[in-house]
Amino acid sequence: MRNSSDVLIVGAGVAGLSLALRLGAKGYRVSILQGNEPPPVYRPEMIQPAGLQAMAELGLFKSLEEVSAALVQRFRFDRMGGGPLCQVDYRVLSHATPYALITLPDRVQRLFERSLDACPTVRVHRNVRITELVRQGTQVAGVKAIEGGQEREFSACVTIGADGCGSWVRGALGIRSQVKRYRNGFLGMLVKRPPEFGDLPDQVRYYLGQGQILGLFPCLADRLCLLYMAPADRIPTMGQEGLERVKQHIARVEPSIGDALRTIASWEQVSRLVPMRVRAAKWVADGAALIGDAAHACHPHVAQGTFQAMEDGKALAEVLEDEYVWLWENGNPLVVRLRDRIFRNIGDRPHLLQKVAATEAGIDPSPLTFAERLQALGLCA
Ligand SMILES: Cc1cc2nc3c(=O)[nH]c(=O)nc-3n(C[C@H](O)[C@H](O)[C@H](O)COP(=O)(O)OP(=O)(O)OC[C@H]3O[C@@H](n4cnc5c(N)ncnc54)[C@H](O)[C@@H]3O)c2cc1C
Repeated sequence: MRNSSDVLIVGAGVAGLSLALRLGAKGYRVSILQGNEPPPVYRPEMIQPAGLQAMAELGLFKSLEEVSAALVQRFRFDRMGGGPLCQVDYRVLSHATPYALITLPDRVQRLFERSLDACPTVRVHRNVRITELVRQGTQVAGVKAIEGGQEREFSACVTIGADGCGSWVRGALGIRSQVKRYRNGFLGMLVKRPPEFGDLPDQVRYYLGQGQILGLFPCLADRLCLLYMAPADRIPTMGQEGLERVKQHIARVEPSIGDALRTIASWEQVSRLVPMRVRAAKWVADGAALIGDAAHACHPHVAQGTFQAMEDGKALAEVLEDEYVWLWENGNPLVVRLRDRIFRNIGDRPHLLQKVAATEAGIDPSPLTFAERLQALGLCA
């Protein structure tokens, strides 16, 4: 069984979905392959002002407001057991949206998925297990995968790895990468927001101790999401007793949430999160590209991963779609690398050189076709 599309995306996270949304809006045939559905994660998904801008470009800003995300403008840092350290206030920014919105990761995911319903040329295949990369000569031509118990081949002009930190695609392409598992992880919990927080619902609070961090994030309309730092290698083996100790410590740091914490009765209500840093040596190889965390995961303290994943989707969609002027002037490092690659590939292909010369000379200003652009990217023979 064979499935053929223009672009094949492995991974239906924000990176893959935002790329699909942009390509689908232009009518490209896109297949997205998603593995088993990950369980819900209890952690704040903070969309920073730049991320809100990116969502607005995708037409998702209004719907983000509708998922009852909490709006925050102030970030207060306190010494654990001591006084205030500082307060960062987004209201000083001269920006269209001088605030961040906080919701849960699956809410953001659903927004993207809902928008894809309006793109008839995009299809998401779920619970798919990829078995191998398919090559034609040196170029990647798709993947083989098991879907519904059957082996299928998914072929495409371009294959994109949007499959997160542990990217299978990155490994299959043999791309060298530094993957760092941070020493400290986080326990994520979702509780009812206590009335005391009603006064300052627009404020994120961080308590910083010696090797300890507790973050309190207003989340949704009436919830509070907690992130409690703990050594990554101890997190999997903390038993029920460990959970009680964590809750007691949190309640000592922030007594107003002691009551709300009673609703956390077992580890099933706690997400165990271990952040990773990924630095891939290159983001493009043999007719395939990496985007999002698969290419460059960063620590969650900067809360920029979702925005970067959307920016990657934008950059790649535009590279596959737009004119060279945009490429020449772009400062985005991913685009700059792709631009250099395009110029080299054009130099190696006389028919493309001729077309570019005719366009530059104003003799025949017909744009490159989609297939020619893929050749220029080195993504098609
Ligand atoms: C604790 C924590 C807090 C964070 N907080 C924030 C925040 O507040 N704001 C922010 O902007 N960022 C935050 N981030 C970072 C952000 O979550 C990521 O950068 C972002 O989700 C990356 O999106 P992605 O689509 O590249 O990858 P992912 O979201 O990881 O999506 C990858 C998808 O690919 C699927 N997949 C994986 N392997 C395969 C395979 N072999 N076949 C098919 N499918 C596969 C996965 O199931 C997943 O659906 C946080 C991260 C952590 C760990």
